Amino acid sequence: MTRARLSVDLDALAANHDFLARLTGRPVQPVVKADAYGLGAEACVTRLMQAGARTFFVARLVEGLALREAMGPTPVIYVLDGCTAGAAAALREPDLRPVINHGEQLARWLEAGGGACGLHIDTGMNRLGFRPEQAPATFPGLELVISHLACADEPDSPMNRQQRDTFAAVRGHYPDIPASFANSGGCFLGPDYAFDAVRPGISLWGGGPEGRPDPRIRPVATFSAPILQVRPVPVGESVGYARGKVADQPLTVATVGAGYADGVMRATSPRGQVFVAGQLRPILGRISMDALAVDVTGLDVVEGDRVELFGPNRPIDDAARDTGTIAYELLTSVGSRVDRTYTG
Ligand SMILES: *Cc1c(COP(=O)(O)O)cnc(C)c1O
Repeated sequence: MTRARLSVDLDALAANHDFLARLTGRPVQPVVKADAYGLGAEACVTRLMQAGARTFFVARLVEGLALREAMGPTPVIYVLDGCTAGAAAALREPDLRPVINHGEQLARWLEAGGGACGLHIDTGMNRLGFRPEQAPATFPGLELVISHLACADEPDSPMNRQQRDTFAAVRGHYPDIPASFANSGGCFLGPDYAFDAVRPGISLWGGGPEGRPDPRIRPVATFSAPILQVRPVPVGESVGYARGKVADQPLTVATVGAGYADGVMRATSPRGQVFVAGQLRPILGRISMDALAVDVTGLDVVEGDRVELFGPNRPIDDAARDTGTIAYELLTSVGSRVDRTYTG
């Protein structure tokens, strides 16, 4: 296939799952929202279940419905949006568990007959969940109490300890209910943060817990694209829209078949690099919708050779930093016309 491709290494995914389980000594309950961060929820959840995972989190009802349809009755699926208006019946019928975020959601869920669900306590992020002092008394169907760290990628932030201590106090109201606190970064903060189960996303998919590569986490996703044309560019001529690059020496330029419609953000230029023919080489000029230009001067490359935008040779956290963003956004931006393939 000569088009942009997102290749997912399922063995590496399972290895990251196993590593996080060993690191924390707790069951890993993967977060597979946004189609498993763009990698494809069905294939990833199938593999994570082989690795031992049973409980999964999505953000939206629609994601939960699709995952239930694909995976059948076995996995436990929590919906982080909770019981949104009108959603109770749609959640109950396929056995999706809302994570209840506020009093209206709780009333709605119980009025509809209730059933297995989670409860989100906001310990300082001010995003979703009950304030600690407004945490409801325990109720039938409550199976899991969660909270979420705001600064887990900064291990030295005092916010982490504050949130952890707040959560430890609140979950005391629910002594028999399992508690889930740590996202990827939280898994690395030590045993105090593990509670009863951990809830990582990005580090399963190959992102480091602190937004930079971590040797303990294996790359999972490789984003590559083919060279469509190789051309010499003489001194003084320019490359791409708006003369984004002017040659100050003779260049050999490869035009690569991936652009912002594939998820290569325009902000990737001017610092972006790709791995090609064994080297990291700079992206030249503007990213266009379907193509980008790479300086391949002195390299032996031809049409059809592939360049790696991120993957084992170009860590996703490095690619994200050079784009001024985070690995999460790179992964979830990979376009729908990009071919997804799975190995392992
Ligand atoms: C996205 C999300 C996670 C996973 O976070 P990562 O940083 O990707 O590990 C965990 N919990 C909640 C509530 C989330 O929204």
